[in-house]
Amino acid sequence: MGKILEKLKASKVLSSDGAWGTLLHAKGLRPGECPESWNLEHPGEVLDIAAQYIEAGADMIETNSFGGSRLKLQHYGLDSLTTEINRRAAELSRKAAGNNKIVLGSVGPTGKILMTGEVTESELYEVFKEQSMALADGGADAIIVETMSDLEEARIAVKAARENTSCEVICTMTFEKTVTGEYRTMMGVSPSEMVHAMKQASADIIGANCGNGIEGMIVIVQEIRAVDKNIPVLIHANAGLPQYHDGKTIFPESPEQMAGFVPALVEAGANIIGGCCGTTPRHIRLISNALKFVSG
Ligand SMILES: [Zn+2]
Repeated sequence: MGKILEKLKASKVLSSDGAWGTLLHAKGLRPGECPESWNLEHPGEVLDIAAQYIEAGADMIETNSFGGSRLKLQHYGLDSLTTEINRRAAELSRKAAGNNKIVLGSVGPTGKILMTGEVTESELYEVFKEQSMALADGGADAIIVETMSDLEEARIAVKAARENTSCEVICTMTFEKTVTGEYRTMMGVSPSEMVHAMKQASADIIGANCGNGIEGMIVIVQEIRAVDKNIPVLIHANAGLPQYHDGKTIFPESPEQMAGFVPALVEAGANIIGGCCGTTPRHIRLISNALKFVSG
């Protein structure tokens, strides 16, 4: 049994980290600059973000590798550094996490669309294999395939991580509320469709990230639990629905507001709770405290 499943057996609920992009921008990442290049150019700043989330009480932290696939790094002419960038990402988070906390190697979408033939299944498999292996090599305990909209891309990424590393594999998709009040990914996938496909792909943990904020996640977890009682569920919620003011994106939910939804989210069946866009170490500190209270 992997490290996360073992810890979940002992404590039922765990906390995860918050946003990385938000903090990188605060540290001076320029619009249009490659966030993952900071693993090589500003490793001290990346390490500091990881350390801030550990300090805030997170049981697990991610790696600065969300856009670290060869296909994403290509946009910046950095594809020849794919292995190095991802390995370094995992090494930095490992350094902050020590041996007791968990490192989740972040794998985001490639931005290429299978359905239109822009990329083939075997190309995607190779891309995810390369990234997952480098993250595992750098010390990641788990691979988290996240912010997925297309079930097929998610399935290939999970399969590549599963078949080429000994890491636990997590998959979270991003659901938005439709006009009829249901939750679907941009590609039309429902939470229950995700459960079936990800169990078939043998993901260890599933869930949702980003999206409309933490309150909406309760309904998503309920839908997951209606079709599966047992699979561990991870939720990384945004700090509310993003608002745009003067060309700036603002995430409105305070740490207190987000932490207030933690009991209901656990009640619905979530096992691991952290944040996505707009969340900060303070959000994670309060979420983590709320989780301690809920789990007694
Ligand atoms: Zn997000």
